[in-house]
Amino acid sequence: MKEIILGLKQKKNLLLHSCCAPCSSSVIEKLSSYFNITVFFYNPNILPKNEYEKRKKEQINFININNEKFNNNINFIEGDYDPNIFFSCITGKEKLGEGSVRCKECYKMRIEKTAEYAKKNNFDFFGTTLSVSPHKNSNWINEIMIEISNKLGIKPLLADFKKENGYLRSLELSKSYNLYRQNYCGCNLDKNNH
Ligand code: SF4
Repeated sequence: MKEIILGLKQKKNLLLHSCCAPCSSSVIEKLSSYFNITVFFYNPNILPKNEYEKRKKEQINFININNEKFNNNINFIEGDYDPNIFFSCITGKEKLGEGSVRCKECYKMRIEKTAEYAKKNNFDFFGTTLSVSPHKNSNWINEIMIEISNKLGIKPLLADFKKENGYLRSLELSKSYNLYRQNYCGCNLDKNNH
């Protein structure tokens, strides 16, 4: 990611997929000097619906706080919420557990939609906050982004946002802004979901 940022001569337009306000907090802090950010909240994997609404509301709340405090102009777009899309992409893998290829399919479904939206709406880059979590496989995330970028012809913002204390910083920011932090990833398929 550093190479991409160093190569920028001016701010570029980034469509940034986000799964929740806490994960977006340190990523937005890191990127907002270099990109005009639009947060794309596309998460049909979040169950049940009231949990989805809670996370969406907190995402919007964080963007508003950030825009006001730092005079930023971060936009918010909500993707479609249809859990059937999530269930079809993980068919046959429901019981594999968190961290398995079930999650890889779940990342792909969300990243692909983000890249398609970014391409259609002339963004310069697409990215995702997913890699900030220590529970997410950054290699898979970046592989998926490269594959989709090659297919659609739009630049990926490859990153591992948990590095350089990115995850710890998201905890600090969540605490200081009193953000709602859920205690499980998104789907409710694992009994012992974190
Ligand atoms: S645990 Fe998280 S990443 Fe894995 S399938 Fe469920 S919602 Fe998707």
